[in-house]
Amino acid sequence: MLSSTRATLRVSGKRSTMNPPRVKRLVGKYELGRTIGEGTFAKVKFARNTETGEPVAIKIMDKEKVIKHKMAEQIKREIATMKRIKHPNVVCLYEVMGSKTKIFIVMEYVTGGELFDKIVYNGSMREQEARRYFQHLINAVDYCHSRGVYHRDLKPENLLLDAHGNLKVSDFGLSALSQQVRDDGLLHTSCGTPNYVAPEVLNDRGYDGATADLWSCGVILFVLLAGYLPFDDSNIMNLYKKISAAEFTCPPWLSFSVRKLIFRILDPNPVTRITIPEILEDEWFKIDYTPPVFYEKEETSLDDIEAVFQDSEEHHVTEKKEEQPAAMNAFELIAMSKGLNLEHLFDEEQDFKRETRFTSKCPPKEIVRKIEEAAKPLGFDVHKKNYKMRLKNVKAGRKGNLNVATEVFQVAPSLHLVEVRKAKGDTLEFQKFYKNLSSSLEDVVWKTPDDLLEMK
Ligand code: ADP
Ligand code: MG
Repeated sequence: MLSSTRATLRVSGKRSTMNPPRVKRLVGKYELGRTIGEGTFAKVKFARNTETGEPVAIKIMDKEKVIKHKMAEQIKREIATMKRIKHPNVVCLYEVMGSKTKIFIVMEYVTGGELFDKIVYNGSMREQEARRYFQHLINAVDYCHSRGVYHRDLKPENLLLDAHGNLKVSDFGLSALSQQVRDDGLLHTSCGTPNYVAPEVLNDRGYDGATADLWSCGVILFVLLAGYLPFDDSNIMNLYKKISAAEFTCPPWLSFSVRKLIFRILDPNPVTRITIPEILEDEWFKIDYTPPVFYEKEETSLDDIEAVFQDSEEHHVTEKKEEQPAAMNAFELIAMSKGLNLEHLFDEEQDFKRETRFTSKCPPKEIVRKIEEAAKPLGFDVHKKNYKMRLKNVKAGRKGNLNVATEVFQVAPSLHLVEVRKAKGDTLEFQKFYKNLSSSLEDVVWKTPDDLLEMK
């Protein structure tokens, strides 16, 4: 098993002098760390507020694209709304910054991973558990809608879990962007199929953001309970047809009351589709429901939002680069784990996620070489940059070409941590790849005495 490296972590709390070298990147008061995700139109990086030590996630977007597509006004308006919102089920937006070419959106860092990982790992959920997540989702959607903000891109990748297992919806307020991506046709190439999109959105004759978001919530509820998509087809035209006719079959284990609710949400006609006030009154939904507690921030400065789109340099955030040894410090290690519990950092579940890590006592160059040797026969193109690698599957998979990012960090003078992360593509395909990769790396992975005992 690659996962039992707890002993390693206990000794890794100190920051030691380390190679390989890396560049420390500062954006304003934030020190940028590793990439935690790549979406359709942006990269999300882990960062730390150097004044308070607080961990944050920063979404980095190309400014030119936003301005070119005349999205600036809508984005400004929605970001301003989101800055005032503090809701337990919505990823909090702290501030925005702009440089000459980029926009940085600073948000709350959510530690528990994506909700979807839970389904990938455990399969479908019991109704009680699914209901709790669905209630959180409806709380978030209801609240933002009441402030005039629609999501338009509700999908599993935007549903994150915090350390307490609460659902947090991300990307509210950025709908103009996902919209644009769709208009560009980019969504089809990089994001795969529109499984979560309402029929009226596909028809593209103008639609109401509220009812369209609800449809996506219905698809999400279905996936939580069934463990698979209600509408799926490898042929895109067939998929469109199925969505437009709301042609789906509930798995036999669903209760009558939840089926009834799903049918009311997945109504292809947006006019007769159930509304949020009606959902709040639904028998199945109401069980164990506790309305959320939240408050609105009164004095939020909105100056930063204006400044982002100013051309003069005085409004730009300062970006600095400093040569730095590549150390994954204790802070980052802790932030990677769920909350503060290091026990979970390398727990068994890791193997089944879109990101996993192992430790090695081999020299870093050798680790890189061994990964390259292992990935090539599996049909991957290998791109290297220092101790970072990008492995690209030559063949396209279910959600496009699988793309894997790896990076070697030094934890102690002769101990390295290797992160293997799915950058693009299907999570299940990634897991299969990782299993193959890890079996070819047997002599690279460091096994603790515990591991060796377990193997006996
Ligand atoms: P997408 O288009 O898939 O929503 P994003 O650019 O929004 O892509 O985000 C990419 C990934 O980064 C997400 O799928 C998620 O796993 C991760 N991520 C985004 N925001 C946060 C956050 N606030 N905290 C932790 N992880 C995040
Ligand atoms: Mg997102």
